[in-house]
Amino acid sequence: MTDTSDELDVLAVFSHPDDAELSVAGTLLKLKSQGYRTGVCDMTRGEMGTRGTVEIRAQEALEAARIMRLDARLNLQQPDGHVWLTDESRTALVRVIRQHKPRVLLTTHWDDPHPDHAHTCQIAREAARLATMVRYDEKSGQQAVHMPAIMHSLFSRRVVRSFIVDVSEYVSEKMESIRAHASQFYRADSREPTTRISEQGFLEQIEVRMRYFGSLIGVAAGEPFFVEEALNVDDPVALLTRPMNIYS
Ligand SMILES: [Zn+2]
Repeated sequence: MTDTSDELDVLAVFSHPDDAELSVAGTLLKLKSQGYRTGVCDMTRGEMGTRGTVEIRAQEALEAARIMRLDARLNLQQPDGHVWLTDESRTALVRVIRQHKPRVLLTTHWDDPHPDHAHTCQIAREAARLATMVRYDEKSGQQAVHMPAIMHSLFSRRVVRSFIVDVSEYVSEKMESIRAHASQFYRADSREPTTRISEQGFLEQIEVRMRYFGSLIGVAAGEPFFVEEALNVDDPVALLTRPMNIYS
């Protein structure tokens, strides 16, 4: 009998313990509400972060996982600030993909100014392909899997999105999951050094971005994604008659 308890429908692969929250928490919450099993795999423990410690950040990540209603939160313990496409990093993610068998991966886009984010995207794309190859990492004893589809979360507005997910109902839970990383964001009483993301106003910008992407499809909030491959559409009428914005 096959033990399917580890199986996930969707796995979000990001670099640092708050990246998935900032990028795709709304989509993960929506997918969970639709009955999918969801997980996040963080590449690093965020030890290069100016604020907080590894222990504090691990606790915050678990609290955020609870708010995002994840079925699994994993950590590959790659070195923060030094995430590279190596045989070791690829194999580590191949093992996660083979264990959890996600059908869809969410990750960063390769055109991301943070090297860890760009490299995480490369690792995810290559590991997704390698996980299908029977002879790759045979010694692990794991079986090859079908290749998961990959959707890339977008930050740069220069990358044209393939679609935007309507996350209007999940704005407050997403913001709560981000605020679970209390060491990283603005607190009036904090004595730690200020960083870009801990400046007062950063979280407001995150929410404004969601509102902006929502406006492009005529809804209250959205998260944008890019898919490299051509989309296979079954019913273009149903697709194109959903709320849109001709001025997007
Ligand atoms: Zn990051």
